[in-house]
Amino acid sequence: MDTSPPEPQLTTLYQELILDHYRRPRNKGTLEQATHTVSLNNPLCGDEIDLQLRVDGDVIKDARFIGRGCSISQAAASMMTQLLKDKSIPQALALADRMSAMMHGDLSAARDKSLGDLRALAGVSKFPVRIKCALLPWNALTDAVKT
Ligand code: ZN
Repeated sequence: MDTSPPEPQLTTLYQELILDHYRRPRNKGTLEQATHTVSLNNPLCGDEIDLQLRVDGDVIKDARFIGRGCSISQAAASMMTQLLKDKSIPQALALADRMSAMMHGDLSAARDKSLGDLRALAGVSKFPVRIKCALLPWNALTDAVKT
């Protein structure tokens, strides 16, 4: 009989999801015909993200990344690129705001289904030095579409 409380199970599930994205990153590689590229790094942790977008009008048609670093930064990039396809620039920036809110402890953002797998990273908000890891790909996105 399983009497353990649900929260640690959820945490384990989330850790597995993060590791799954880290080991089998989605949308990793070079994007042909990229219209926007931004490279950012996080010197605190040694994370690097090279984000490439193909934007048509104001819609993100495709997103890929090349990167290296810790599991949190690379999983966040993988999860983010999954969400971005066919989103408009304003929708993508709204997601970036929700992600930032979640990483700063906003519990309503952590329950927001629009963040998809990224909700697995909500627990990272308790580790201030790692918040930059989780937000690195989102900062690259914001830089890419604002220029
Ligand atoms: Zn990191």
